[in-house]
Amino acid sequence: MSTTGNVERALLTQLQAGHTAETSPLLARVLRNNRIVLHNYKAATIRDCRCDLEGCDRGFAIVLLPNQTLYPRYCAAHRTEHRRALHRARLAAAST
Ligand SMILES: [Zn+2]
Repeated sequence: MSTTGNVERALLTQLQAGHTAETSPLLARVLRNNRIVLHNYKAATIRDCRCDLEGCDRGFAIVLLPNQTLYPRYCAAHRTEHRRALHRARLAAAST
């Protein structure tokens, strides 16, 4: 059994128990870089998403896989915390 599968199972258990990122350290940690997409697709399915970073709003495609609920939260340009910090710094500089 893969580690990813174990994490997903633990996440789903916490979601079903009514936990949120505020009450579950695991959910908080995972949701920093990922989004949870609950679906019942039995075959790989492409879905369009929006980058979750404020001021980006770039679209990107994710491939929903059977039995997988964790997908990237940010577009390819903002996958790392470093790139997001640069983006936020630029936004802050532009608004002053
Ligand atoms: Zn982005």
